[in-house]
Amino acid sequence: MAEELRAWGELSSELAAQLRGCTLCPRQCGVDRHAARGYCGAGAAVRVAKAFRHPWEEPCLSGERGSGTVFFTGCNLRCLYCQNYPISHQGVGKEISVARLSAIFLELEAQGAHNINLVTPTPYVPHIVQAIQAARREGLRIPIVYNTGGYERVETLRQLEGWVDVYLPDLKYCDARLSARWSGAPDYFTYATAAIQEMWRQVGEPVFDAHGMLRRGLMIRHLTLPGALEDSQRVVDWVLDNLPRGVYLNLMAQYTPLGRAPEYPELATRVPREQYEALVAYALERGLECGFIQEMDSASPEYVPAFDLEGV
Ligand code: SF4
Repeated sequence: MAEELRAWGELSSELAAQLRGCTLCPRQCGVDRHAARGYCGAGAAVRVAKAFRHPWEEPCLSGERGSGTVFFTGCNLRCLYCQNYPISHQGVGKEISVARLSAIFLELEAQGAHNINLVTPTPYVPHIVQAIQAARREGLRIPIVYNTGGYERVETLRQLEGWVDVYLPDLKYCDARLSARWSGAPDYFTYATAAIQEMWRQVGEPVFDAHGMLRRGLMIRHLTLPGALEDSQRVVDWVLDNLPRGVYLNLMAQYTPLGRAPEYPELATRVPREQYEALVAYALERGLECGFIQEMDSASPEYVPAFDLEGV
C-alpha cells in the first residue's frame, strides 16, 4: 500500500490549480496559495493539528468508540471567541501530504472510529476530495462528516457531492452586525443559509443505523452566545421556516470565553442558564422536533481537546 500511497501523494494538477487565485470560500481572497497565505492562513499544503477518536461529539457521532476527528489548521471565519483558537488563529499544526491525510482516515477507521469528522475543512476541499477518493479505493467504509462553521460557497460544496455523507454546519448568526463584529463576516447569514440549502439538497434528512449512529444527512449546530438570545431565536425561526420538519438543529450551550473573548465584556462571560433554557423552550414552542440539547456543565475548557499533533 505504501507504493500506492506515494503514487497519489501530491494534488492532481486540476485540484492544485484551485489554489492559484483561491476562491474556495466567500472571502475569495484570490491569493496564490503556492506562494502566500489567504485570510484563512492556509497555504498549498494541508496542515493538521490532531487526529483522534473524539468522545465528546453528539452521541450519534461519538458513540462508544469515538468520532474519527481530524482538526485542520486555519479557518476562514476566525471568530474572536473561537473555541479552537490555537488552530484557527495561531497556526498550530503540521504540514502533511494528501497521501498522509488519506492514511490518517484509514488509521482512524482501523482504530474503531465510527466516522471521519473533518473539522474546519473548507480551505482544504481539493486535498480532502482527493484523500477521500484514495481512501475509499483502499476500502474506507465509515461515513465522512464535513464539520464546518458554515461560511461556504455553494460552488465549492458541489465538489464534495457524493464524497461527503454527513454535513454538520454551524448556523452561528442571523444578525449581520454580530457576524461582522465577532467573525468579520457581515455576509455570513447569506452564505451560510445558501450553503445549508445545498447541503440539504445533497444529503437530505439524517439516516441512522441500527445502533443510532448517524450514517448520512444534514445536522445543523447553533452555539448560543452570551446575551444573544434573540439572534439564536431567529436561527431557530430560519431553520423551521426554510427546511423540512425532519431537520436536526442541535442547540449548544458549551460556549466558553476562549481566544480573545476575555477582551470583550459581552463575550467574557458564560451563557446564563436562563438564556439557554429560554432558547430551548422557544424552539420547542415553535415546533422543533429533532435535535440535541446540552447540559450546562458542558461549558468548560476541559472539553476542548489539546492540539498536540496526536495521530498526525
Ligand atoms: S479558503 Fe482561504 S485563501 Fe481561499 S478564499 Fe477562503 S480565506 Fe481565502
